[in-house]
Amino acid sequence: MFGLIGHSTSFAEARANARNLGYDDYAEGDLDMWCAAPPQLLERVSVTSATGKTIEGAYIDSVFVPEMLRRFKTAKRKVLKAMELAQKSGIDITALGGFTSIIFEDMNLLREERVSAVALDWERFTTGNTHTAWVICQQVVTNAPRLGIDLASAKVAVVGASGDIGSAVCRWLQRQGVGELLLVARRPQPLIDLQASLGEGRILAIDEALAEAQIVVWVASLPQSLEIDLASLPRPCLMIDGGYPKNLDTKAAAEGVHVLKGGIVEFWQDIGWQMMEVAEMAKPQRQMFACFAEAMLLDFEQRHTNFSWGRNNITLEAMDWIGAASLRHGFRALALEDQQSPAPALATV
Ligand code: NDP
Repeated sequence: MFGLIGHSTSFAEARANARNLGYDDYAEGDLDMWCAAPPQLLERVSVTSATGKTIEGAYIDSVFVPEMLRRFKTAKRKVLKAMELAQKSGIDITALGGFTSIIFEDMNLLREERVSAVALDWERFTTGNTHTAWVICQQVVTNAPRLGIDLASAKVAVVGASGDIGSAVCRWLQRQGVGELLLVARRPQPLIDLQASLGEGRILAIDEALAEAQIVVWVASLPQSLEIDLASLPRPCLMIDGGYPKNLDTKAAAEGVHVLKGGIVEFWQDIGWQMMEVAEMAKPQRQMFACFAEAMLLDFEQRHTNFSWGRNNITLEAMDWIGAASLRHGFRALALEDQQSPAPALATV
């Protein structure tokens, strides 16, 4: 059995969802009430792979919202309690979605093995970052040529290059062969270490990289205040918005700049679930975050282990393995043309 731990993208959205689901107390409650609320197992689902294999899964809402990020103790408790509920519910492998994996890693929750009386078994959880990194690489390779960008000579900027997903993307793209890797993050030392381990790559400030790159992979949670100098971007430019929240489409809307939601996959058939309705997917019945899909893949493959864990441990071999499993079970990376919404139905009067 697989599990997904997620959360709403804002407090306002969480309250609206609560109203839709009939939780009127929550819909009326203030942030303090939400801080005290326990996680909820909201949905159970069956999923059938393109191979014909069927697995069972469950979605757990951690009842965390991004407005709680600065309340460290609350954020920490939300993630641990959701993990405890997943484990108590007998789920074999659960993906930590949205901010929950970042909270887990940044707040070093590995030290917190016990929640109440339950000893957490780390083998039952995965960040899903290996599949996310593989999907983002597929999105680069598939969509760049469609825009007339030659990958072999293109400059590719990775914003968040020293992170878990970013460093894996750099290693994969290096093996694939790109013109030049431009490495971007705030702290210099991790970038210097990455550059040394790759044996290539140029470290640049974000504005410098954007002025040169035909392809930009964003794998950092970026501040709302970030502004992009659209005039300086080369055309055409492919931007893969792999961070969370996905907010580049408004910042980078310009002729010749193509923004693709990164780390999103589409399943081969509709799943019949509600959980992606809140995640602003164009086709919520079959599109989902690649980190969620990783838990499904591990369950389809009966590989119940913390496949993606810790920081900067993702290997090319692991990416190849999860990538092959992804294709076998009927997932494919979201492409530019998938983002176009279906034509609106003609209004009848
Ligand atoms: P990490 O914390 O491991 O890495 C984050 C990277 O971004 C680091 O290199 C960090 O370096 C850099 N960074 C952070 N803030 C900035 C900034 N303001 N400007 C430039 N660089 C910055 O995170 P992960 O690799 O685990 O995740 C990366 C992103 O991907 C997150 O936003 C996460 O939510 C998202 N994600 C998306 C998924 C999906 O859509 N399917 C699934 C999983 C994760 P430094 O601190 O030195 O700046």
